[in-house]
Amino acid sequence: MTQPALDLVIAALETIREKSDRAPRASRVALARLQAGDPITDSSRVAPASPTGRRLQSQDKAALLTEIRERVSACTKCAHLACSRTQTVFGVGNPDAELMFIGEAPGADEDRQGEPFVGRAGQLLTRILKAMNFARGDVYIANILKCRPDMAAGSFGNRPPTPTEMQTCRPYLVEQIEIIQPSVLVALGAVAVEGLLGTRETMRELRGRWHTYNSIPLMITYHPAYLLRNQAPSEKRKVWEDMLQILERLERPISERQRNYFL
Ligand code: SF4
Repeated sequence: MTQPALDLVIAALETIREKSDRAPRASRVALARLQAGDPITDSSRVAPASPTGRRLQSQDKAALLTEIRERVSACTKCAHLACSRTQTVFGVGNPDAELMFIGEAPGADEDRQGEPFVGRAGQLLTRILKAMNFARGDVYIANILKCRPDMAAGSFGNRPPTPTEMQTCRPYLVEQIEIIQPSVLVALGAVAVEGLLGTRETMRELRGRWHTYNSIPLMITYHPAYLLRNQAPSEKRKVWEDMLQILERLERPISERQRNYFL
């Protein structure tokens, strides 16, 4: 397509996106790739990076994520959550991460700080990452829901997001994944799996083996909050075995000490 024609297509799609309730048939990522001259065969999604495919540049990814973050921070699609939240919790980490973690929704700590996985479960996730030889800033961490699920006045703890809330917020996560193009996705817990894949199965059936999301390898493992509730070494070992599979998939070196954790 010639550049003037391409500019017209991009401008028209941008106008539809801004003015219509109906989503146009190309994502902002697809538009960015069109602008960069990338060949795109499926306008509904962007294929993950391949040895032969071109990737978005890091600075493009950061700019695209900033634009979505701004839309999320102003989002009121779930009016009840927009009223109750302190702030939205978009995501954190390396826009060019090869490893991306997906949780379910912000809790009270995350709602207060505006960052996912900063409470006790988040601190455990950071320790797991360290054991894998990753810093928190090396990976990308996001939730299905960007607002904290509201709680009845006077009640404590967290409630899981409803299917409707997850469906409403999911497009933001889909865009984040399209931009980051991780080599491996990790879904933490059954609720995250339901939000991402729309499937409801037990963790016993899901965890410990490879799945795919839009051609991206997806590992499903327990949410760190589960490990805080169940401290049995056998459960810790199950999560660690899932992490070992991820390290192998990413072709990261694994020491003997790492192999033997929780045995
Ligand atoms: S949960 Fe998501 S879709 Fe709902 S108001 Fe928050 S940002 Fe918007």
